[in-house]
Amino acid sequence: MGLLDKRFESENIVITTMDDLLNWARLSSLWFMQFGLACCAIEMMATGASHYDLDRFGVMPRATPRQADVMIVAGTVTIKMAERVKRLYDQMAEPRYVISMGSCSNCGGPYWEHGYHVLKGVDRVIPVDVYVPGCPPRPEALLEGILKLQEKIRRQSLVEKKV
Ligand code: SF4
Repeated sequence: MGLLDKRFESENIVITTMDDLLNWARLSSLWFMQFGLACCAIEMMATGASHYDLDRFGVMPRATPRQADVMIVAGTVTIKMAERVKRLYDQMAEPRYVISMGSCSNCGGPYWEHGYHVLKGVDRVIPVDVYVPGCPPRPEALLEGILKLQEKIRRQSLVEKKV
């Protein structure tokens, strides 16, 4: 703390930076958009249920994009659905984050070669912060992805993301 060290008599004073304070608040209350696209969404729901208990990380579902911080793209993104996914992402306020969950969302999954109707990766329409591999990823893998996103937010600077 340098110059400010021992300048305050009260023990209740904490000195920190705005970056650290805002990042701590953001990473501790990641509300995710409540929607799923295919089988991966079942694992996402399991992650939110009592056994894995996402709430303990401050991660909760939110039924409107306007109040959601993170979009978990869980499932197959068809060409038809891609436009809706993009529209929902556009309605989220900054700073907003995206977790791509599962092979389908990451790269087209089992539809990679012959699925003419499937987008070959959701990052073709929206930016992705964390990719979670698997078909489907287990709840532990999604939890790991969320922890990775929290690490990323912890290192962010105010100038990196619009506030
Ligand atoms: S990655 Fe596998 S489990 Fe997930 S939506 Fe695609 S086919 Fe289903």
